[in-house]
Amino acid sequence: MMGICPHCKIELKKPPFNNRETNELLIVMNYRSKLDNKIKIKSIDELGYCEVCNAKIEEIKR
Ligand SMILES: [Zn+2]
Repeated sequence: MMGICPHCKIELKKPPFNNRETNELLIVMNYRSKLDNKIKIKSIDELGYCEVCNAKIEEIKR
């Protein structure tokens, strides 16, 4: 447990949260299932948010 999202590297326990996922276990499971199924995770710049934890780009790039 590192306390960060493996995709966008946001700190999970640091506010603001704005509906993003902060349960690291769920995030890691979500991330690994995409890797295991060879699902390409889209870039944060492309989507405007992190597909793994739902953090918005403004939160990530602070
Ligand atoms: Zn993330």
